[in-house]
Amino acid sequence: MKNRHSAMVPVVGVLLLAGFAQTAAPEADWEMVARIREEGFQRSQLPDTLSYMTDVLGARLTVSPGMRRAQRWAIGEMERIGLTNIEIEPFMDYGISWSNDYVSLHLLEPDYQPMVGYPLSHTPGTNGKQRLQVVVADGRTEADLDALRGALGGKAVLWTPPAEVDLARLNAGVLPRTEQELRELERPAVSAPRRRPIVGADVLSDAERMAFFKEEGVAVVLESRSGWPGAVRGFARPGTKVDRWARRESLDSLPIVAVTPEHYNRMYRVVGRELDVQIEVEVRNTIGDEVQQAANVLGEIPGSDLADEIVMLGAHFDTWHASPNASDNTSGVAVMLEAVRILKALEVQPRRTIRLALWSGEEQGLFGSREYVKAHFGDPNDAAVGMKPDYEKFSVYFNQDYGPGKYRGIYLQGNEHVRRTFTAWMAPFADLGMTAVSSRGVGSTDHVPFDAVGLPAFQFLQDRAGSTGGHTNMDFFDTLPIEDLKHNAVVVAAFVYHAAMSDHLIPRKGR
Ligand SMILES: [Zn+2]
Repeated sequence: MKNRHSAMVPVVGVLLLAGFAQTAAPEADWEMVARIREEGFQRSQLPDTLSYMTDVLGARLTVSPGMRRAQRWAIGEMERIGLTNIEIEPFMDYGISWSNDYVSLHLLEPDYQPMVGYPLSHTPGTNGKQRLQVVVADGRTEADLDALRGALGGKAVLWTPPAEVDLARLNAGVLPRTEQELRELERPAVSAPRRRPIVGADVLSDAERMAFFKEEGVAVVLESRSGWPGAVRGFARPGTKVDRWARRESLDSLPIVAVTPEHYNRMYRVVGRELDVQIEVEVRNTIGDEVQQAANVLGEIPGSDLADEIVMLGAHFDTWHASPNASDNTSGVAVMLEAVRILKALEVQPRRTIRLALWSGEEQGLFGSREYVKAHFGDPNDAAVGMKPDYEKFSVYFNQDYGPGKYRGIYLQGNEHVRRTFTAWMAPFADLGMTAVSSRGVGSTDHVPFDAVGLPAFQFLQDRAGSTGGHTNMDFFDTLPIEDLKHNAVVVAAFVYHAAMSDHLIPRKGR
């Protein structure tokens, strides 16, 4: 009862202020923030959600059986929290399902050692357990490969150069952003020259080199692209595009196994001594028969007097396959679920509808969010898509996908019109180190499709966290800064609340 009563206060407050809102400076609702902080720090359910998602659900490659199971869990979780309009919304024919069932990898000669490796997605398994000789074949030109013709049949090849371990980063550990760094991020970005890829008429693409290995009868391809001992970075096979996730092409590929740098480099050096390197390897994968639809999962806290206007929050639910991907992006999903749980626990009655989106298909190219934006809001710059009625009813989208680091501020995404509002909403979190407002635009994740069609969408400015980064086999529950993630959920809940109660939609760039 106490909760219900005090939840009404801010509604009344906002209505009284409505007439003056054009000129009044935006202000945070400190009383509501106090209640959000209390719920989010003292009665957090985030550790349990994170543990369940990482320990029980595990990896969630788009359209894999693991992803489907996890999406059923997400629907149940949204029901438990008390969201409404819960939906699993298909967005495109995505491709066949693929999952890894078993890997066994050992160095046998010149010395025994178990090795750590994971297959790349959408590659076939090996034909049972195989004992193979290892050779180096990391040349990039046609002439390099010509020299190897006839020498690779039935072998395991090392096709990437030795992995470079980033010792400086390893030794330094991961430190929070300094005050100086935060102030630096508040200045406009200086664009750095792009690193040019190796070019030349005779330099072959990865897909071309892979085709050569196939032709030569290579048994297994080994690679290492990780900068950290113990870590494997393993994603999709070269040349994979989502619309080409066909069964035939997966089966036509060679088995490709990504190996940790210390194990990979050891083999590479021994081969360099012209000594015999023998491994035993077995990979079993399940490859689906037909193209399946990928889907996003959505749920809402319905609005009241402005129910047709929309405030969104979200994170991508899909992952790569080599770990539970605790940081990327289980942490973002758990933060967003916790943020709406906090608001439901406080029985807030938002004016606008609050909509949570757990995207799919992000890791292969933001497919879930892009298709969602196109279907629900449209694109005023694309006549074929057009502008949907909800385009003008949309207020703002908040996303988390830059690892599990603590929110230290927010990127304005080049939208100066939100500076004053976001600065005000951030003020109650200054004591927690949330102080930076960066005008910069950032990319690579699900706020981008919104931003690209002119809709306000934002990423928070986060501390670095986790020494091995995302997309590795090392991304487990134990690497998560739980207290920082509680902070993030509290901040998102407050931002979403303010956006849902404000007299105005969040202003758009150039308006
Ligand atoms: Zn991610």
